[in-house]
Amino acid sequence: MADIFPDQARKFATLEAAARAVGERYGYEEIRTPLVEPTELFARSIGETTDIVQKEMFSFSGPGDKSLSLRPEGTAGVVRAYLEHAVYAQQPLVRYLYLGPMFRRERPQAGRRRQFHQFGIEALGSRRPAIDVETIDLLTCYLEEVGMDGWELGINSVGCNRCRPGFREELRLYLEKRREELCENCRSRLETNPLRVLDCKNPGCRKVIEKAPKPIDHLCDDCASHFEEVRALLTELAVPFTLQPLLVRGLDYYTSVVYEIYGPSLGAQDAVAGGGRYDTLVEELGGPSLGAAGFSIGLERLLLSLKGREIPAPSPPSISLYLVAVMEEAFRPNAVLLSRLRRRGFKAVMDYLNRSLKAQMREANKRRVDYVLIRGKDEMEKGVIKLKDMKTGEESLLPEGEVVEKIFME
Ligand SMILES: [Zn+2]
Ligand SMILES: [Zn+2]
Repeated sequence: MADIFPDQARKFATLEAAARAVGERYGYEEIRTPLVEPTELFARSIGETTDIVQKEMFSFSGPGDKSLSLRPEGTAGVVRAYLEHAVYAQQPLVRYLYLGPMFRRERPQAGRRRQFHQFGIEALGSRRPAIDVETIDLLTCYLEEVGMDGWELGINSVGCNRCRPGFREELRLYLEKRREELCENCRSRLETNPLRVLDCKNPGCRKVIEKAPKPIDHLCDDCASHFEEVRALLTELAVPFTLQPLLVRGLDYYTSVVYEIYGPSLGAQDAVAGGGRYDTLVEELGGPSLGAAGFSIGLERLLLSLKGREIPAPSPPSISLYLVAVMEEAFRPNAVLLSRLRRRGFKAVMDYLNRSLKAQMREANKRRVDYVLIRGKDEMEKGVIKLKDMKTGEESLLPEGEVVEKIFME
């Protein structure tokens, strides 16, 4: 664990300020949860058989001999808090941002400390592919804001509870046949968690994995169309990505879409950030069945890939907008405009819950936004969008490209 002196602490503070500023533009608000949680929470969410739970946690016994652990990651605690306080009963879609130290008993190496710091976000309540894309868009926007270039985004889908068991069995049978060629670690994973063999770095294992069945070829219809929509939206937003068929992430709670960011100076396969969808975790921890997605980024690793460069501090957003899609056809163009507005520095959100026009306007009012942008049938046909100034009530129809200019003029 490292002592962080003022020189370095200033850099951490700038990265954290940038996280809050970018998060605010995307509608994410900070949550702070305890550094300590019941060990059982991590075992149930991250997975009993993962390296993190089996080897890397700092655990100790608390009152009543209950086993407690320093948090090795942020998602489990956030979901625990969300459930314990039944937040889902009051708000159908919640966007959280967290910052703080995490703890893992790893072999120390460059950018990896046993106490390290993460910035993470979680969007709880929607299964729409646009939410996966929103988290990726936020992450890449953040990387650009802090001056990291040369990053690469790898994405994959690991399937859901319906399609994964069949795939897992097929993979296990394949690996079983080539058991002798696998490293010792992978031989034991074969029984408990064959998917993890896919991301083993051992050269012998890599050779076996090359020809192994891939999750992407075994997706059910829902997972396949979800993944397709995510890729289509990323393409429309001009966020570059590559398909990484072997990407599985080291945590069991991921379902469907997963992704990682690789930095230029960390070496291939070494991720700075990672995330994905975890649609079953909330239910597994005793909550309702709902969609969830998020990512986390390690600040030490990020600093390493910034190589001591000066980090620009973004200013928090001063103008807020709400985008209304009156019909499904308006959803995708709105999602694209939303990303542009956020990247221009506005605080902007839209509906991901298929709500009616009235309900969306109510949400905009509740959020006290400065402007509402409405796209309905008429607007779609005329190739314009309606801009409503919420202070004056004034409405104007204008081409999408002129929205930013019009707002700045007023
Ligand atoms: Zn599936
Ligand atoms: Zn191996």
